[in-house]
Amino acid sequence: MKPYTIAIDGPAGAGKSTVARLLATRLGYQYVDSGAMYRAVALKVRGSGTDPEDSDAVSALARTVRITFAPGDSDYTEQRVFLDNVDVSGEIRTPEIASLASVVSAIPGVRTALVTNQQSLGTQGGVVMEGRDIGTVVFPHAELKVFLTASADERASRRHKDILARGGDTTVEAVRADQDERDARDCGRAVSPLTVAQDAVEIISDGKDPEVIVNEIVHLLDAERSGT
Ligand code: C5P
Repeated sequence: MKPYTIAIDGPAGAGKSTVARLLATRLGYQYVDSGAMYRAVALKVRGSGTDPEDSDAVSALARTVRITFAPGDSDYTEQRVFLDNVDVSGEIRTPEIASLASVVSAIPGVRTALVTNQQSLGTQGGVVMEGRDIGTVVFPHAELKVFLTASADERASRRHKDILARGGDTTVEAVRADQDERDARDCGRAVSPLTVAQDAVEIISDGKDPEVIVNEIVHLLDAERSGT
């Protein structure tokens, strides 16, 4: 069977990572978290003292960083992310880095560098890639595009739980404020804003288990393969 390219886009907290990871395991496909790449660049910007507003310097840095992945401990744990061969899996998951990632991801030179990188990971197909512009820019010809979203309250509540589980200390209101800011930046930027690809299937994840969503996507794939 021809290996497909599957694009899963959507806002923060919609459940993309869990769904994409479970789906990749189910299909025996490679899973790529493109957001982790923007987060890794943000971490490098912060660590190197680069001014995030200096587009040329940040773009140059995005062109030279080496970002690699290794599988997590189980289907339910995130994959390991390495920045210049150093494991930064924990460090990239802070709210501060999420916010900085959404700032640097608006820089065209950063996007060009990372999109090239992402496309090279998917040349053979057999990949589930999640992000904001996978179906619109990275793989516009993906065989299946899913736009996974959820209500803003549900997304904030999930992220809040996630931050507490990682040992963070914050309120759901603070998470919601951060989320609103990040959504506005991701949807409002000039280059590759978060939008629903014309041929994407929209799935709303409120109140749904990830496994249920994975089953829905597998049905969509079966329908695509059988041409129904
Ligand atoms: O998906 P995640 O929340 O980890 O992404 C962090 C940030 O990286 C997003 O808020 C967004 O600004 C950026 N991003 C992007 N394009 C992608 C993936 C993530 O701009 N394909």
